[in-house]
Amino acid sequence: MNSQTRNHSSKYTGRFAPSPTGPLHFGSLITAIASYLDAKANNGVWLVRMEDLDPPRETEGAAEQILNQLIALDLRWDEEVLFQSSRLDNYEDALKKLTAKNYCFQCDCTRLQIKAMGSVYNGRCRDRPAPPKEKFAIRVRTEDISIDFDDLVQGNYQQSLGKEVGDFVILRKDKLFAYQLAVIVDDAFQDVTHIIRGYDLIDSTPRQIYLQQLLGYHTPIYGHIPVIVNGQGQKLSKQHFADPIDPNNGMKLIHQSLQFLNLNPPEINSSASCLEQLAWGIENWDVQAVPKLANIPENLLEIE
Ligand code: GLU
Repeated sequence: MNSQTRNHSSKYTGRFAPSPTGPLHFGSLITAIASYLDAKANNGVWLVRMEDLDPPRETEGAAEQILNQLIALDLRWDEEVLFQSSRLDNYEDALKKLTAKNYCFQCDCTRLQIKAMGSVYNGRCRDRPAPPKEKFAIRVRTEDISIDFDDLVQGNYQQSLGKEVGDFVILRKDKLFAYQLAVIVDDAFQDVTHIIRGYDLIDSTPRQIYLQQLLGYHTPIYGHIPVIVNGQGQKLSKQHFADPIDPNNGMKLIHQSLQFLNLNPPEINSSASCLEQLAWGIENWDVQAVPKLANIPENLLEIE
């Protein structure tokens, strides 16, 4: 089925949504595998969405490379891959709806000004005259409300949106749609029911729930798994030069991911395929077993 015309149903639908800023590394592979196992263990559909909305941060060829890495590890997605770059009109529509409801305003504050506010936006531009064209972001007004949700891995998570985040950007100064807006428009469009992703995104979730509420979308179930950090406490990421995974080492990588997710996989039989490892993972998946820790230092992992 073409995902642009996807028929909405309440069937379990999970997704992996990489940004093509570089090839998959071990950290992003774990997110892919956890979301895949949760979907398949629940007889669900697993989608891959390419979040290619930020050309300045993207690396040429990375989207294709990520898809090839997934294929090499037998992580097969259902339905066509959705590219966010093909969805700009839909983000525009969502922005128009929020604007029509008076939730949006233009803001020309600089990073420095926001830092001086203690990094929580204080509403400075809410009622100021529109700043000069081309040089403003669009923010959505927040209220002094607390948003909480029950995370499948972390338990109850609560954030006071007004006090901890403030009005936030949905269209950047460079006129690119912000992740917070695009992600909820597409999760709703693809009728995603379950989102398993890295703990580094947990503090974005209340903003996403807030936008879902403003736009009348339904809120999926979330589960945030720990992220691996390097010796300096930084998330393994393309920016921090984490090594791309080696597709020829797929079987071992899947085995290590299953260990990281605390599933206690048996020793790998040298003839076991990626598919067999994944089948074992589906059979033995237990979201409750996943460690709750936010971060796991790379050097503490027992895996080689
Ligand atoms: N594209 C985001 C990333 O690669 C993930 C978005 C999400 O899972 O909500 O970090």
